[in-house]
Amino acid sequence: MSATLRFEVVGEAFKKRPIETPTPAERPSEFFGKYVFNREKMHKYLPADVYQKMINVMDGNATLDLATADLVAEGMKRWAMSLGATHITHWFQPLTEGTAEKHDGFVEHDGKGGMVEEFTGKQLVQQEPDASSFPSGGIRSTFEARGYSAWDPTSPVFVIGDTLMIPTVFIAYTGEALDYKAPLKKALHAVDCAATAVAQLFYPDVKKVISNLGWEQEYFLVDEGLYAARPDLVMTGRTLMGHDSAKNQQMDDHYFGSIPERVAAFMRDLEIQALELGIPCKTRHNEAAPNQFELAPIFEETNLAVDHNMLLMMLMKNVARKHGFRCLLHEKPFAGINGSGKHNNWSLSTDTGILLHGPGKTQIDNLRFITFIVETLMAVWRHNGLLKASIVSAANAHRLGANEAPPAIISSFLGKQLTEVLDHLEKTADEEISLAGKHEMHLDIPQIPELLIDNTDRNRTSPFAFTGNRFEFRAVGSEANCASAMIALNAAVAESLMDFKKRVDARIQEGGTTFHAIMEILREDITTCRAIRFDGNGYSDEWRREAARRGLDTEGSVPLVIDRYLDPASVEMFKKTKVFELAEIQARNEIKWDTYTKKIQIEARVFGDLCLNHIIPVATRYQSALIDNVHKTAQIFPKETAERLSVNNVALIQQIAEHTIFITENVEKLVAARKVANRIVSDREKAIAYHDTVAPLIEETRYHVDKLELIIDDEIWPLPKYREMLFIR
Ligand code: ADP
Ligand code: MG
Repeated sequence: MSATLRFEVVGEAFKKRPIETPTPAERPSEFFGKYVFNREKMHKYLPADVYQKMINVMDGNATLDLATADLVAEGMKRWAMSLGATHITHWFQPLTEGTAEKHDGFVEHDGKGGMVEEFTGKQLVQQEPDASSFPSGGIRSTFEARGYSAWDPTSPVFVIGDTLMIPTVFIAYTGEALDYKAPLKKALHAVDCAATAVAQLFYPDVKKVISNLGWEQEYFLVDEGLYAARPDLVMTGRTLMGHDSAKNQQMDDHYFGSIPERVAAFMRDLEIQALELGIPCKTRHNEAAPNQFELAPIFEETNLAVDHNMLLMMLMKNVARKHGFRCLLHEKPFAGINGSGKHNNWSLSTDTGILLHGPGKTQIDNLRFITFIVETLMAVWRHNGLLKASIVSAANAHRLGANEAPPAIISSFLGKQLTEVLDHLEKTADEEISLAGKHEMHLDIPQIPELLIDNTDRNRTSPFAFTGNRFEFRAVGSEANCASAMIALNAAVAESLMDFKKRVDARIQEGGTTFHAIMEILREDITTCRAIRFDGNGYSDEWRREAARRGLDTEGSVPLVIDRYLDPASVEMFKKTKVFELAEIQARNEIKWDTYTKKIQIEARVFGDLCLNHIIPVATRYQSALIDNVHKTAQIFPKETAERLSVNNVALIQQIAEHTIFITENVEKLVAARKVANRIVSDREKAIAYHDTVAPLIEETRYHVDKLELIIDDEIWPLPKYREMLFIR
């Protein structure tokens, strides 16, 4: 495959904006969206007919022509310049972490030796970033076709610092997607079409279905000075060594605790800047681990929510630095305490305001509710391995399978009431039942009065839990682009809704009523996808065995989980929903394997360096001091006394020697394992080798480094310790 470069978040523009703290008179409602070219600003800056055209484009009812784009660009430029913008950039989401930008000035020759500010429709609509070093998995070799970025008018442009940022998709000239956004938009279109057709069975006037995403972003903060003294944090985003702090999260005193003043100041600034950029921040709190926090906005349409999450992660990193912090988005920055995830709260709703995953008041509402729940479960059941593949990464692997949400098996928790409703539906039809619950609930399809779904019944160990009016996909990693999970989920649900509609139509053709056709199919599907429903403890060993019996995917090795994208069922689903062609999936998998390898490779290098150049020299120095002490003690005391006085030091000398020997030998093994793995040509096989032979050696060796940390003189220990990094006051 072509060379890939890691692409760090650029965020240049952020450095230029001073922190603005609003005066008490300013309310979020006043500065919300201040830097966003939203409908209100379009109305002000665009001619009436152009404004109307743009609204149609944004609502997905028209495509943009170049003449209109020119006029839109002109209005945008006037607005952006009023905020001091001098540059534009196409802002895109390549298949790396973070986002990418390439800045161009608003300037053009005026033909008379001077300059004019210019920004044309063409510049707005399309750019060709010299992006040959972005990963393409071989689709776009540097010499063949180039990639271009194209404006996504459904996500509004915004200004950061002196730059007008234009959200774009990034695609090859040959049409294949080179980013997350293009396939996401295809998946959202697929689910819109499929869900609209199904929703019309219940509500004929529905014209559009919207996929909603409300993410909850977890993160850690560490002091910038301490961060700088940890080469592992700087280079890999996580601590590769470090003994548990005596006190960490065992007292449960951090979760929802009062927020330290320094952190509160950071959060305030972050929220103000996020709100100004149109991110509807709502919730903030301490998380379970010390120094761990969460920010959640109000849910939005999925494409916009994804952009906002990418933007927020960028903002977090930049605002943190202004407060003397570093923001860690890695899924597992510290061993022994919880890692960070990004719950993806997901639901479908209609243009007529109906939440398809929420219960309603009428019989029709409730039959529709059950339909969308069951067909979502069908999608998750059919593609549980793929959904896991959509969220795995070298970093997220530290969370999955460990005893913190979520386990490495995708299953769905429905809660007691909904489980009873489905169980009942499966067995009986058209007859009234009454379920004892928190709320007395009557389900008498077709004579249903009202379904009240209890939202307090929660299972934190479930990776895909129903929580009242949405599903919460909890396995997504904190650093991930939510788009990956949202592409797989929305496409899979689109497929199951298409399939549902086809079968319902066939029954109706055979002469059944719509109601009976729906009921029959639902009953079949409830039985079919029963295996995906699990309300027990997702961490238990019994569940692992039981899940395997049920035929769910229990694979834990990241490079092997990635294979699920190439399962015939996945390939067919992506083809049916027009999200990916096979070649695109293959190319993207190559990138995933390659990224996995590089992550572990970098960790192994940094780890080896820390061991050989930081830890062992210090351990040896301390050991020499102990040896010196033992010798001198022997010189001034009689033999027996000297031996008694030195007994502890002699034991320590031996312990240090044993740990250092182990570490030295293992670092050699680590280098050897890497050499073997590096010779492998296939990206997949190489990633497997890194997973099987390199990664375990890092963890094994770490144990000995952490033991040394406990016995070496604190004064000379070369790295900040967990207890120093984890308690911001
Ligand atoms: P928690 O799960 O911690 O109780 P909240 O209830 O605050 O969190 O919700 C978390 C996220 O879920 C928020 O972004 C919220 O807007 C979002 N959310 C709520 N209802 C829906 C829905 N129907 N579809 C999608 N997201 C939703
Ligand atoms: Mg939640």
